[in-house]
Amino acid sequence: MSRETGLEEILEELRKYLEFQKNLGLETLIMRKKREDKDKTRAEQEENPLTDQGKNIIKVQEQLSIFDTTRKPTLEEIREEIGDCTRCKLHRWRTNIVFGEGNPNAKIVFVGEGPGEEEDKQGRPFVGKAGQLLNRILNAMGLNRSDVYICNVVKCRPPGNRTPEPDEIGTCEQFLFKQIKAIEPDIIVCLGNVAAQTILRTKDKLANLRGRFHYYGKAKVMATYHPAALLRNPNLKKLLWEDMQIVIKELNLSVPEKK
Ligand code: SF4
Repeated sequence: MSRETGLEEILEELRKYLEFQKNLGLETLIMRKKREDKDKTRAEQEENPLTDQGKNIIKVQEQLSIFDTTRKPTLEEIREEIGDCTRCKLHRWRTNIVFGEGNPNAKIVFVGEGPGEEEDKQGRPFVGKAGQLLNRILNAMGLNRSDVYICNVVKCRPPGNRTPEPDEIGTCEQFLFKQIKAIEPDIIVCLGNVAAQTILRTKDKLANLRGRFHYYGKAKVMATYHPAALLRNPNLKKLLWEDMQIVIKELNLSVPEKK
């Protein structure tokens, strides 16, 4: 038997085994970098923490299940897969699943944390006060909601707007990763700690991550403040705008002149 034929047979066996597991209900198998690669990257970063214009840049692979890598899904298929989801405990408190909305071919995807009260009522992302502020931010960038795609890490409202818990994020994030795969944006803007830490697979705080691009697969990732944080602390507006200036420059957007 040639080496190639042997390899093909092993791959075929692996495919059958995974199909079998899928039929048993296994939905997600995250492919991670090899441990030694991780350790090497960490060691390299520790050795040389100041890279790329003197700042740490995080680069992560797309977080996809082995079942999702073969074909680009459509947003409709992903919504269908979510169905009337009860995969995590957040389903107990929701009125509506808030899947996400916007341009399926958007160059920018904005990712928040989870739906709030108004979003839960309407089944749409960022429609409350923070959403109105996001609309103003988009307009100031020369964009409308229909130009971008907007979604959250978790699709159901955490009770009392609490931060989603790790098990809830871990269960729901697969749908966000599939949405990103479906849209293939140039830029992902993470609004707040939860979005930034989920996408960049880090525990680092937003204050340390913002102000420069990181990478999720081929997409550039800008981590910045959640509009709700700006409503609580208007001093953050300046920092968010600095981050958006970097995005504007990258996409060469025409910013409307101030009247
Ligand atoms: S938050 Fe996500 S995983 Fe949890 S019930 Fe809602 S859709 Fe399902």
